[in-house]
Amino acid sequence: MFAAYANQVSNTTLLANAGYLVSVVLFMLGIMRMGKVKTARSGNQLAGGAMLLAMVAQFVEMGHINPVWIIVGLVIGGTIGLVSAIKVGMTEMPEMVALFNGSGGLASALVALAAYMYLDVPGTPLMSASMGGADPSIVNGLAVMLSILIGGVTFTGSLIAFGKLSGKVNGSPIMLPGRHVMNGALLLLSLGGTILVTFTTGGLPGAGIVVAVTVMALILGVMLVIPIGGGDMPVVISLLNSYSGIGAAMAGFAINSQVLIVSGSLVGAAGLILTQIMCKAMNRSLANVLFGGFGAEPTDGGKGGGADEYTNVKAADAEEAAMILEDVESLIIVPGYGMAVSQAQHLVHELGDLMEERGCQVRYAIHPVAGRMPGHMNVLLAEASVPYEQLFELDQINNEFKNTDAVIVIGANDVVNPDAVDKKDSPLYGMPVLNVWEARTCFVIKRSLSPGFAKVKNPLFEADNTYMLFGDGRKAVEEMIKALKEG
Ligand code: NDP
Repeated sequence: MFAAYANQVSNTTLLANAGYLVSVVLFMLGIMRMGKVKTARSGNQLAGGAMLLAMVAQFVEMGHINPVWIIVGLVIGGTIGLVSAIKVGMTEMPEMVALFNGSGGLASALVALAAYMYLDVPGTPLMSASMGGADPSIVNGLAVMLSILIGGVTFTGSLIAFGKLSGKVNGSPIMLPGRHVMNGALLLLSLGGTILVTFTTGGLPGAGIVVAVTVMALILGVMLVIPIGGGDMPVVISLLNSYSGIGAAMAGFAINSQVLIVSGSLVGAAGLILTQIMCKAMNRSLANVLFGGFGAEPTDGGKGGGADEYTNVKAADAEEAAMILEDVESLIIVPGYGMAVSQAQHLVHELGDLMEERGCQVRYAIHPVAGRMPGHMNVLLAEASVPYEQLFELDQINNEFKNTDAVIVIGANDVVNPDAVDKKDSPLYGMPVLNVWEARTCFVIKRSLSPGFAKVKNPLFEADNTYMLFGDGRKAVEEMIKALKEG
């Protein structure tokens, strides 16, 4: 069967198809390896290699492309990637992920626009490489339009997400009156118009329609993300990630590129799975996230959880904490966004080791939305070489707090808020949280009584068994280690 196929196609096509096949397998292996922290780095490298191979195969197939363009593109893209990877701080990673999603969306939309411009011009590179001289079909026309639509939404939506995560745009939901009607109208016009026009023209729609859909997609991206705020950003980021994959797959259909279809579908599917995991972690439906406007106004009268709302807060210093820790036999460490900000992960590991040497059982509890991106805490603790066996997910450890002597919460807030369990009018209500208050003693390390990302009060800080250690996370842990060693 292979011999028969080989006889029908040229050596170049055969070589290119072999390259596509290998790169698709590498993509799948890469994405599999990204599922575990231990193998994630090599998974990323495999996927990067697969991307390069797919590009080379594409150029082999096209044959007559000017290599200067390719090299210039590779150098510019590679330099931007390298510089941003070196410069970006761990705390800025979520913004960077949002920007990368947006770039993916923009790339898909641009490929689709290029396809639109070239598909009906016989002899142009896209036409000759992907269409073999045939007229663009309804599938190509539809894919071009959908890729522009999804890519455009992803691009502007990701820019707004980037702005919200980096504090450049107000993080609270901006609820424009009549937004559902406007969004519905935009979606109906762009999607419905696209399908209708593509089918009636039997291929590519007119330029006016393409421009109109592009503009509507760009507006829709802004409109869809602007009302989302508070703790719902993890879902939005993973959903935009998924959109960028679906947009790429559509671009693949537009230019008949199987490798783009497969790799885009892989990203799209992975992003959807992550979205579902994030929704589950926050006990919210996707519809609720997209249309709910979570975090608009704290309904508990908390007015953002300012320091003046707390009574009965007990502060302790490092020596006092060390005195209590000297006698504990079980300890759970709960990291949050503040650990990332203060870059305390290495010291946290040192503290854990010190407690273990004293015969204490040490475990780390990881909340799925702790920090500012999925897997944020896992990445930091892996960087600090905390053994994987000591890391526990929320479901695995939540029943353990009640049998635990002490908990150290470092820079976490929303993910340890008891109101999520028992206060129905709290915006966090229903989100599964780590039940740290059930432990015998709970230490909370943070700089002040300021609220977390969701801007709500946290009654944990005034619980009878809670001691607040006010200060920068890194410095506080350093002082605890010193006090324990001296004690
Ligand atoms: P929070 O944002 O709820 O709280 C972080 C706390 O860290 C703050 O209250 C802050 O208090 C403290 N902090 C900041 N800097 C320091 C420092 N240098 N040293 C010590 N403490 C510090 O974090 P959580 O991890 O508990 O929860 C994550 C929140 O972010 C959730 O609401 C989640 O939905 C949301 N989110 C998560 C994303 C994800 O993908 N994981 C993406 C986007 C949002 P203080 O200023 O007093 O020090």
